[in-house]
Amino acid sequence: MALRTGKDYKESINDGREVYIDGERVYNITEHPAFKPIIDVKARMYDINHEEKYKEICTVTLPDGDEINRGYHMPKSKEDLAAIRKYVDTVLEDLGGVFYRVGDETIGEMWSLYDAQDRLNEIDPTYAENIRNHIDRIARLDLFHVSANTDPKGDRSKLINGEDGGTLLHIVDENEKGIVVRGAKFETAAAYANQAFVKPTISNWSNSSVNMENYAVGFICDMGAPGLKHICRSPVGAGKDPENYPISSKFEEIDTLLIFDDVLIPWENVLFHRSLESAKYIRETVHRYSAFNYVLRILKRADYLIGVALLNVEQTGLTKIPSVQEKLTELISYRETINAHLTAAVAEAQETAGGLMMPNQSLLYTGRIYALKHFPAMAHLARELVGGQLAVTPDMATMRDPKIKDHIDRYYSVGKWSAEERAKLLYFARDLLNSSLAGHQITFELFAQSPPFAQSAAAFKNYDLTPHRELVIKAANLSSDLVKS
Ligand SMILES: Cc1cc2nc3c(=O)[nH]c(=O)nc-3n(C[C@H](O)[C@H](O)[C@H](O)COP(=O)(O)OP(=O)(O)OC[C@H]3O[C@@H](n4cnc5c(N)ncnc54)[C@H](O)[C@@H]3O)c2cc1C
Repeated sequence: MALRTGKDYKESINDGREVYIDGERVYNITEHPAFKPIIDVKARMYDINHEEKYKEICTVTLPDGDEINRGYHMPKSKEDLAAIRKYVDTVLEDLGGVFYRVGDETIGEMWSLYDAQDRLNEIDPTYAENIRNHIDRIARLDLFHVSANTDPKGDRSKLINGEDGGTLLHIVDENEKGIVVRGAKFETAAAYANQAFVKPTISNWSNSSVNMENYAVGFICDMGAPGLKHICRSPVGAGKDPENYPISSKFEEIDTLLIFDDVLIPWENVLFHRSLESAKYIRETVHRYSAFNYVLRILKRADYLIGVALLNVEQTGLTKIPSVQEKLTELISYRETINAHLTAAVAEAQETAGGLMMPNQSLLYTGRIYALKHFPAMAHLARELVGGQLAVTPDMATMRDPKIKDHIDRYYSVGKWSAEERAKLLYFARDLLNSSLAGHQITFELFAQSPPFAQSAAAFKNYDLTPHRELVIKAANLSSDLVKS
């Protein structure tokens, strides 16, 4: 097998899948205005791997000579983790923007399952074999693999009781070909991906009763499978002029409500089924690798915040004012704290039971919490430094209108910044901070991977509190009976 090109990728998703958006059935997804921009970006990601200057960073040659995407290479050393970081950085730099669901972050969920092979083997040996085969297949076929976690959950109190799956995705039949599933999932990028790892949603799986077993299922689903319906949200960037909306017009990722209308999942695609223990395990470990790639995106977003704020204060001559410098320092501190978490998570990486190297979990999860919690405040600070012109600047066609151009030049140009250059910076800043897509992305970041309470729980579970307890017990001369609480 070979690394795919952008053209190969595009051909692979024009497979007759059932996609709906804005009251319309989509027949040619690669040319549809809502999907074309982000599909073109994803296609560019495939093409990058064929360019000589990127080859070393973006691809890996397997012992048998097969070449795969660096993002799909299972990390077995700290160097492998550092190489993944460099790969994501390089790709985002080339594309000139930040987007989230592109494959490198979702493959990590499969690696979490790989780590559980021994436990899954005890339940059913075919699970571990299917997991290994799929990890290999994704890499060798260079598939665009995404992730479906979240169901429209209905009454949460019933779920928490563990007595009723409500609307959760579940198994309705089982036969010699495989299992048949019914239900729904929310999934960004599903409509233009090749396949998804579908898994149980966040719930109290440890306390679930046996009648929840039909809901405890994990599998790979082809995004063109018969019975699968992609019901997509309306785009906010489609059709927007790239000059005025340089980010929305290119980087909008479309989210889908995926309906599984009795979809057959062949046995070779079943990773576990009717297994509460597996559901619990996957929910506890699912982001052990993928959170790294996710936080990397937020770091890149922080780079953009600093860039727009800096360029704006430079052109308006404010850089020398100490209070402006303080605000820039706050942005820098935010950026560098995220950077420190990621750097330390690699330096302190941990070997797993499966023989892989995972980023240090505590440093990674606390970094994720920090990055997400402070992003809105940092965006606000960048907004403040860019100033009100962020919100009041006319569009480029108006700026260029010869009838008013003299006025525009007079009031918009500053020093060596022409009116047009200033407008370009302001449009970029607006799209980063103020546009519909900017709002959408903040909501996405809040909920992507899992909601804040679940991210907090992951950080809590992965931090060893024992030394703190022992420290105070010793210093305060407390009874040694208290050492093990
Ligand atoms: C733009 C966008 C894109 C998305 N893309 C994907 C995707 O690609 N794949 C995917 O699987 N999902 C995706 N999601 C779904 C996302 O993962 C969920 O929104 C998220 O997991 C929260 O689930 P929910 O929306 O059902 O919220 P709920 O479970 O209803 O929770 C809402 C709020 O209720 C409170 N709450 C609920 N339960 C508890 C509890 N047990 N303890 C404490 N507080 C609680 C919290 O404040 C929580 O934030 C996406 C969501 C958005 C907004």
